[in-house]
Amino acid sequence: MELMDEIKRIAVITSGGDAPGMNAAIRSVVRSGINNGLEVFGFMRGYDGLINNDFKKLESHDVSHIIQTGGTILKTARSKEFRTKEGRKKAYANLKASKIEGLIVIGGDGSFAGATLLSKEHNFPVIGIPGTIDNDLYGTDYTIGYDTALNTVVQAVDKIRDTSSSHNRIFFVEVMGREAGFIALRSGIATGAEAILLPEVSGQLEKLKNLVSQRGNQKKSSLIIVAEGEREGNIFDIVKGLHADFPKLDMRVSILGHIQRGGSPSAYDRVTASRLGVAAVDALLNDQRSIMVGIRNNDIVHVPLKKTVKLNKSINRDLLEIVDVLV
Ligand code: ATP
Repeated sequence: MELMDEIKRIAVITSGGDAPGMNAAIRSVVRSGINNGLEVFGFMRGYDGLINNDFKKLESHDVSHIIQTGGTILKTARSKEFRTKEGRKKAYANLKASKIEGLIVIGGDGSFAGATLLSKEHNFPVIGIPGTIDNDLYGTDYTIGYDTALNTVVQAVDKIRDTSSSHNRIFFVEVMGREAGFIALRSGIATGAEAILLPEVSGQLEKLKNLVSQRGNQKKSSLIIVAEGEREGNIFDIVKGLHADFPKLDMRVSILGHIQRGGSPSAYDRVTASRLGVAAVDALLNDQRSIMVGIRNNDIVHVPLKKTVKLNKSINRDLLEIVDVLV
């Protein structure tokens, strides 16, 4: 006997900052949805598409050959209107009018804050899939896009190291992470950086000054990774300050910027996105309403969306210790 409240139609969006592997997650949601007998709809440009009712039905062939592509076929946006109650009401009304009974949101903590409100205000099932290069989501070891971004940074920094050592320069490289230093920490370890400045650790500037003064006028190169959100100031202020103290040293700045967001996703991100897409559809079918599917110790976990918004993921202290030992 068919249950009256059995889910038949679901929707998927990508929201907030784009990340490599979002397409692999969309593909996974669409294919596992269809395999479970569901109709799957994709709304364009995140929450803006929900508000403007801009959507299309996604068939299996619509997601062919996208597992290897960066960006998101559904586009993404930061929606001001969705931050208002009226905006979320419009979004819900559009979902209801199309008889859509569950929503999967691929995005970061901002997107999950919006998802939590939509779910609570309208008693609507929403499942989150962590998709952000920053890896700064509580409750999951990895977010989709982080591994690819990390590898992009490592490749770029290796190239900078070549030129830096040819000229015996000190290179300061800024990597993404407005609030969190996950990219900076791991890329710093992977590139053998002499110092890493992260928003989570204070007093790093003093340490950096000691490092630079110890090297004196020795002719050797150094590489310093600086997270975008470093609290001691932006990268130019930091370099200006150091230059005033050590005017003879040749210091350069390189800001990696948006190359960190693009590119073909790594094998790890593709597999993670595929696993999480299937897990998200399963969660909806198992009556979960307001959770994120994540990865902990290589297992799929369910974490209340509310928790992912309220709590901060802390940086791995073991990795910080490694940095000090290996410099
Ligand atoms: P990233 O971490 O990559 O930046 P994100 O999902 O955190 O991704 P945000 O720009 O913070 O990106 O959020 C995406 C969208 O989610 C916002 O444009 C807005 O529409 C919605 N959103 C964010 N915070 C809230 C909130 N407190 N209430 C309602 N909606 C929100």
